[in-house]
Amino acid sequence: MQRTTKIVATLGPASSDSATLNKLVAAGIDVVRLNFSHGTADDHRQRMDSLRLSMSAQSRTVGVMADLQGPKIRIGKFAGSKVLLKSAQSFTLAAHCDLGDANRVGLDYPELVDDVVAGDVLLLDDGRMVMDVASVADGEIHCTVRHGGELSNNKGINKQGGGLSAPALTAKDKEDIRTAAALKVDYVAVSFPKSGSDMREARALLLEAGSKALVIAKIERVEAIHNLEEIVDASDGVMVARGDLAVEVGDAAVPALQKRIIRMAREHNRFVITATQMMESMIHSPVPTRAEVSDVANAVLDGTDAVMLSAETAAGEYPVETVEAMARICLEAEKSAAVSLEKQFLDRVFTRIDQSIAMAALFAASHLHVKAIAALTESGSTALWMSRLNVGVPIYALTQDVRTRYKVSIFKGVYPVMMRQSGHDRDELLREAEEQLIRAGAVEPGDLIVLTIGEPIGTPGGTNTLKIVKVGDTHTAN
Ligand code: PEP
Repeated sequence: MQRTTKIVATLGPASSDSATLNKLVAAGIDVVRLNFSHGTADDHRQRMDSLRLSMSAQSRTVGVMADLQGPKIRIGKFAGSKVLLKSAQSFTLAAHCDLGDANRVGLDYPELVDDVVAGDVLLLDDGRMVMDVASVADGEIHCTVRHGGELSNNKGINKQGGGLSAPALTAKDKEDIRTAAALKVDYVAVSFPKSGSDMREARALLLEAGSKALVIAKIERVEAIHNLEEIVDASDGVMVARGDLAVEVGDAAVPALQKRIIRMAREHNRFVITATQMMESMIHSPVPTRAEVSDVANAVLDGTDAVMLSAETAAGEYPVETVEAMARICLEAEKSAAVSLEKQFLDRVFTRIDQSIAMAALFAASHLHVKAIAALTESGSTALWMSRLNVGVPIYALTQDVRTRYKVSIFKGVYPVMMRQSGHDRDELLREAEEQLIRAGAVEPGDLIVLTIGEPIGTPGGTNTLKIVKVGDTHTAN
């Protein structure tokens, strides 16, 4: 059995040397995440270079995601890099303050003082420290610390309930979009979008920089939940960014939101990644907790396309063991994932010819119990549509377009296969498709497969033909 759920691994100091990267690729990562909140353009370039070497040595296809920092609001620095705060003490967040101490610290987003009022709750360091706003005056937010603890340089701040005015794309993000385009990444994740227009702006900037990377909306703001449908529609994929989302909406609301976001993404023909703290304890432990195993398995059963690792692979002590454990959990959970095509079909609305062919291919594949579905695709869209419903049959996206091969690697149950042919001869193309599928170990002569193709050959969005063929018999079966 092949794993259908894809694994996204964040690269960082613990996973950038070529030996570890080789092991991660061998352990089955499908996409790497370059976190633009950390590191320089050169760091990201070097990681991509090492990844390309690993991929070609192992004949694997691994997509690359650039994750923009977005308007993450942070405190400034302390004179001694950290302070110990006591419960119930007063503490001031100041628009202007060079080096902080146990009474006050600066802000990298001075406008925060205009976004909060007395009674608001601020969460620092991913919610580990809570402060109640007592008053706001003269560019200073005066707070009371709820529970004491250590606070160190540059920790993030969220406002419970949302309502921060910071725009989704900062000047740094715009620069990073140009870097991501130059690096030829496959996906760009936009942090803290509030609306569909934030996503359209990111896509326009990418196109301007010469990139057709797929855009991913990280759902992590209260406003994004309110505008979920328009954000989903304006994006190619979404990420359930549970870290910041939990801080904004309250942690207990996140599991139900995760299910809603995954369902909506799939219904709108978008892919979806479930992220953050999935295997958190494996940063320091060679085995996951029972709760983590259940969390990953539940995300699979919710229908996520991919599960993501953050600090576990970027800075953890067991990056390879974490990917191996995650792969094992996904594979086991997939065995019990529901396959009920007829009911799912009733909910689908499609009017396009290519989408109708994709649905017809699924219907035929599930009734005939074929070995594989083969989508000859230019853009990867046919494979995406097919993968929105689970019929328990692997979908091979056969493409001449190298960029499409990388893009489809995040879709659940879709496996990229490179086609060499660039001609327009249909019979030659079908022969090569079979050869490539046999070479990839996907089928054997005599297996029944469902195949989709666009005629005339070579037109993106032109899929209009469905063939059911016995491998080795393409020229006669119809
Ligand atoms: C998150 O908040 O869950 C997330 C994925 O974002 P980041 O790790 O970039 O803060």
